Amino acid sequence: VNTPHPVNEPTRSYAPGTAERAELKAALARMSGETIEIPMVIGANNVFSGRLTEVRAPHKRSLLLARAHDGNRGDMEEAIEAALGASKMWSELPWTARAAVFLRAAELLATRYRPLLNAATMLGQSKTAHQAEIDAACELIDFLRFNVAYARQIATEQPESLPGTWNVMEPRPLEGFVFAATPFNFTAIAANLPAAPAIMGNTVVWKPSQNALLSAHWIMALFREAGLPDGVINLVMGDPAELTTAALEHPSLAGVHFTGSTPVFRWMWRKIGENIDRYRTYPRLVGETGGKDFVFAHASADPTALAVALVRGAFEYQGQKCSAASRAYVPKSMWPALKERIVELTRMIRVGDVADFRNFMGAVIDGRAYARITSAVEEARKGGRARLICGGEWSDTEGFFIEPTVMETDDPKHTLMETELFGPVLTVWPYEDAKVDEALALCDETSPYALTGAVFARDRVFIEKASKALRRAAGNFYVNDKPTGAVVGQQPFGGGRASGTNDKAGSVLNLLRWTSPRVIKENF
Ligand code: GLU
Repeated sequence: VNTPHPVNEPTRSYAPGTAERAELKAALARMSGETIEIPMVIGANNVFSGRLTEVRAPHKRSLLLARAHDGNRGDMEEAIEAALGASKMWSELPWTARAAVFLRAAELLATRYRPLLNAATMLGQSKTAHQAEIDAACELIDFLRFNVAYARQIATEQPESLPGTWNVMEPRPLEGFVFAATPFNFTAIAANLPAAPAIMGNTVVWKPSQNALLSAHWIMALFREAGLPDGVINLVMGDPAELTTAALEHPSLAGVHFTGSTPVFRWMWRKIGENIDRYRTYPRLVGETGGKDFVFAHASADPTALAVALVRGAFEYQGQKCSAASRAYVPKSMWPALKERIVELTRMIRVGDVADFRNFMGAVIDGRAYARITSAVEEARKGGRARLICGGEWSDTEGFFIEPTVMETDDPKHTLMETELFGPVLTVWPYEDAKVDEALALCDETSPYALTGAVFARDRVFIEKASKALRRAAGNFYVNDKPTGAVVGQQPFGGGRASGTNDKAGSVLNLLRWTSPRVIKENF
């Protein structure tokens, strides 16, 4: 079948007076007005354990959105059995049957589910309407539709055959179950990590972040309504270490699809090493982890575009993107004027309740994140090598609010230039214009990560030089654009070094990781 050629879903504006805005507001009001119960989903069953995690809005702690029923090791083992039990049925379906489920999910999400998943993402993860729309609506719809095109590509690409024989490549799924462990910061990623292996015929146990359970609940509802058979994706939340340990100790573990922190991925890798003799097959490990993403400005850069990119790249979604701009290299000749522009733009940012559409930033995700980010800024200020340019205020009385904060340092290896903070903090190191080559070298070697990065310049020769000098410093490299906002099918996403296995989400390369093909030669 010729599946539809995927086209990126356009974003809705939610401008005042539109029907779309009214519909989203209504969903927000409904979800804010009730406290729902979120069960695990194991096979055909909704499982209510009675061990509860409270789901509250990060920007309004008094708002109790849901109570989620946590699982334990036993629930994880049952979920694995459910996945293994569904495996034969699901993997033997024609790939078009699996594709149909996800195309149906994309259509439902583009229409009826859109306000629901957007509202759940706004309230549960403190995203603004726009940040939710580009994630829970557009990026997720794109993942679902593009994955179908990639699955088709894999199913239809066949080896050569000579007269008298033929060769068939059968894209079998992996043997066993896939464990998907997902982050709070993108609803699209949380849904895609189980969905991508599933479209390739795998069955999955999905452990969502405890900080994104409301959207996880609606994602499950969407997939089930779209016709996903029982047991193909099983949802188990609860204590991450306990659940993950149970999954990684299981002999049928066939793959891990992870987005989260570098230390957790390394811990998982070690656990898998310890258990290697138990497994029936070598598990595929696909992980996208941390980032300390740079913006490198050249003296020829357009200062207005640069200032906007820095502010949007650093502060959209409170800087809680692996791709967020968090360290900047700016020539000294440019810095005084640029600083003024950045301060002007940053002061325009309103921080507050995301249900008020005038706010550009919401709260950071939880008390731990709040403490980590604010204490890093405090310590840097006390340390004497970094100076506050703007922001630096916070409050956790109603929610975990941190003002967008810009720091300047005279030390290119300052911890603020090196360590991922995952919050709204941008650090700038102004470099001597004449020492631009040294600055490029420092940019490459200062942080252990290599996820995204951007170069701003109008000088073509410099752009080429920077591209070479920073060849390994980012898996997604932007020229004259902010380092966030990769689009499915356009900028396949992922990085190397401590940032992950670089298996490019939003491309056929990722889906290839979820197949273990059999080649059949037949003589005639
Ligand atoms: N793909 C997202 C972007 O390009 C970032 C994903 C992440 O934070 O993990 O902004």
